[in-house]
Amino acid sequence: MNNQELVIRDLAVLWHPCTQMKDHEWLPMIPIKRGEGVYLEDYDGNRFIDAISSWWVNLFGHANAHINQKIIQQLSSLEHVILAGFSHEPVIELSEKLVELTPKGLSKCFYADNGSSAIEVAIKMSFHYWYNHGKPKKTKFVTLSNSYHGETLGALAVGNVELYKDIYGPLLMETITAPSPDCYEREEGESWEAHSKKMIEPMIEILESNHENIAAVIVEPLIQCAGSMRMYHPIYLTKLREACDLYNVHLIADEIAVGFGRTGSLFACQQANISPDFMCLSKGLTGGYLPLAVTLTTENIYSAFYDDYNKLNAFLHSHSYTGNALGCAAALATLEIFEKDNVIQNNKKLSANMANLLKPLADHPNVGEIRQTGMVAAIEIVKDKQSKQAYDWRERRGLSVYQHGLSKGVLLRPLGNVVYFMPPYIINEDELKLIVSTAIEGIDIAVSRQ
Ligand SMILES: *Cc1c(COP(=O)(O)O)cnc(C)c1O
Repeated sequence: MNNQELVIRDLAVLWHPCTQMKDHEWLPMIPIKRGEGVYLEDYDGNRFIDAISSWWVNLFGHANAHINQKIIQQLSSLEHVILAGFSHEPVIELSEKLVELTPKGLSKCFYADNGSSAIEVAIKMSFHYWYNHGKPKKTKFVTLSNSYHGETLGALAVGNVELYKDIYGPLLMETITAPSPDCYEREEGESWEAHSKKMIEPMIEILESNHENIAAVIVEPLIQCAGSMRMYHPIYLTKLREACDLYNVHLIADEIAVGFGRTGSLFACQQANISPDFMCLSKGLTGGYLPLAVTLTTENIYSAFYDDYNKLNAFLHSHSYTGNALGCAAALATLEIFEKDNVIQNNKKLSANMANLLKPLADHPNVGEIRQTGMVAAIEIVKDKQSKQAYDWRERRGLSVYQHGLSKGVLLRPLGNVVYFMPPYIINEDELKLIVSTAIEGIDIAVSRQ
């Protein structure tokens, strides 16, 4: 079996996610045969460093020995069981661990099987909480510009990336959008902190005038990942928590992408010293192995649903694979690695390395900004450095970086004109050097293209 044979079979029967399939007339798709550590290997024997952790899910490499072993162990006793009326040890143990590790106050775990569903759970629970408390008018959700929370209709409605959302507008519930504290938009000479702090003002105005109709504010703490890795200062989250308390509005923290160490702390909310009313986790939860998601919430929310059955106050929501035992085993193995390998501490060195390697790019005439938060770094490619004028999206400059990356054995997948690195935490210095130098070459090719 080689790449070509598989591609032909693939195109006959598959429709790939987030892809204009016509691109595959000229852009080769790559069938992967095996993964090992940061490497992916295709059927022609080419190897690629997975610099984007396979869409931000992988934390400790492909075919990780420890996670493999724990899944195999679980497989021999129980693969899955209905979670309504039944339970199992992995889901109990995982929930205990998550309650212990997440910010104080989050004490109950509700499982789903993908990130978007975890968002749907938080949205429905928030609305339903207010309903059960005699406040049925609290139906609106406040979201940030440029935010992303998934693709199912509820999650899409509370997101704001036009590319994914606009066409489906007629199908979506109405939301209220506050401007993002995104520091790429800060004025020259302004600090991240000053900019992010200032951006709480329009949010406060919205809450002040509409809080009686608002159920919750939903944010991606510190990094708007799908919105081109735009970043902001933790002060915004601190201020937002205060404002939500003041106006009696829930705070939903979508840590699906930023959780599990991506921002430098285990959870991004910890950098602001806040605890949300809902925290959604997925992606890195299983180390990138299996689809699993969880929405953590507080005793206060939980108790609003706790009543005699015939009051009909229960949260009657479920997904078939909720709390899957294999997924929970993978998640437990992942958390064990965090603990035994002192990952958060060791990542500090890695992210400092990343910052050093990116320094030479600061003067590049087509680099508008290099930004980094923990283990995520991003380069904004611009047409004009002074004005930060962007390239027209139709030119697809980022695609040239993608193509160059593949030719050099590096999987980079720019978001429009933003090249970013979100590698597995087991990447070594040489591999980091290679992904950065490949990205720099790719950027040079992309900007010199017609
Ligand atoms: C990926 C992502 C989601 C959606 O998760 P899926 O598992 O893809 O449905 C939601 N929010 C954020 C911040 C994400 O990055």
